[in-house]
Amino acid sequence: MKRSCTYIKDGGQHCQAAPLRDAEYCFWHDPEHATEVAEARRLGGLRRRREKTLQGAYEFEGLNSIEDVRRLLEIAVMDTLGLENSVARSRAIAYLSQTALRVFEFREFDERLKSLESLLAPRLKTARR
Ligand SMILES: [Zn+2]
Repeated sequence: MKRSCTYIKDGGQHCQAAPLRDAEYCFWHDPEHATEVAEARRLGGLRRRREKTLQGAYEFEGLNSIEDVRRLLEIAVMDTLGLENSVARSRAIAYLSQTALRVFEFREFDERLKSLESLLAPRLKTARR
């Protein structure tokens, strides 16, 4: 039988995580690791706060759409343009431009596909009857 952590959560449910070797608790619930767990939680909190700050500063919510990718590229382009002129900067700008063109291509394809689907959807429904 597979062992699991014996810690009981606030809701009365058992923790489902695997316990540490020769221990009855998982890493997160073992009293011997309380200091490491507290440090891990603190670092996690700092990271989340830093992420929120960056999201606000860059008006970037994460990679969830084509528009988000476009925004991320825009940020990279602006940061790169702000650097001192060099061959590496020119190469980076050329690469970012190529990537931007691919994003535009993808966005156009996506828009065309959506309009085609909206045109075809009523016809397909009629044809199935
Ligand atoms: Zn546990």
